[in-house]
Amino acid sequence: MSGKDEALQNNKLLPLERGAGSLLTEGYDHPSNGSYPSVLTSPSTPSLSSIHLKAVLFDMDGVLFDSMPYHADAWVTSMAKYGLPMTREIAFMNEGRTGMSTINMIYNQVHGKDAPKELIDEIYLDKCNEFAKHPDPERMPGALDLLKKLKRDGIIPVLVTGSGQYTLFARFDRDYPGIFERDKMVTAYDVKYGKPNPEPYLMGLKKAGVAANEAIVVENAPIGVQAGVAAGIFTVAVNTGPLKDSVLLDAGANLLYPSMQALCDGWEELAEKLK
Ligand code: CA
Repeated sequence: MSGKDEALQNNKLLPLERGAGSLLTEGYDHPSNGSYPSVLTSPSTPSLSSIHLKAVLFDMDGVLFDSMPYHADAWVTSMAKYGLPMTREIAFMNEGRTGMSTINMIYNQVHGKDAPKELIDEIYLDKCNEFAKHPDPERMPGALDLLKKLKRDGIIPVLVTGSGQYTLFARFDRDYPGIFERDKMVTAYDVKYGKPNPEPYLMGLKKAGVAANEAIVVENAPIGVQAGVAAGIFTVAVNTGPLKDSVLLDAGANLLYPSMQALCDGWEELAEKLK
């Protein structure tokens, strides 16, 4: 294990910072007992002190719902039926891509050409059916409490997901009632490119009616982090899955929390820096 990874593990309960190079010189207060990994420059995202928070853009799977283990299972099972090699690790590493893009990526690796559209649709439908065999995913612990804090403070929550599940809106009505307004939800149906392209998060800004320095992104996947950073938005990673922290930090995350509960618990302290 590298020294950096050890430092990351030892500070698992603290938010880790890897942001704009200016963070350290602009008076961001580290928790006094934290030692931090080296700060790398990410000049495209605003520094903490330049943010005037009006909206928080949330990814869905692995952030609002503890659904990623079910998705990984469904991907492995469905792709195997079509002779396409998929592992749970590949599923987690590529989380956030559209289903079409994921299927085509693996198909290309095997066949050296794009998958026919009809086949992509068939595999994706099968994957959705495999996913539906699992029980409904639970809310991610801490997520609802965090969202209630945002509503209390007049901050707009926006959903930005690559998912196109037909049960999606019903799940939000049940598990996050009254939290997300329908016109502030970006789904697979709204975007052309999907993450890691910045398009979904740029659309999230547009739907919220805010600028890049008036929002932050909350993401659990490296590709989602890349999309947030590419959109020029300060991006907070929550490591709710099996990937190493370094994968999310290397993707460009400006801050990292070990869970949504930790982000919820630390919200007031972070929000104070985002005024
Ligand atoms: Ca996710």
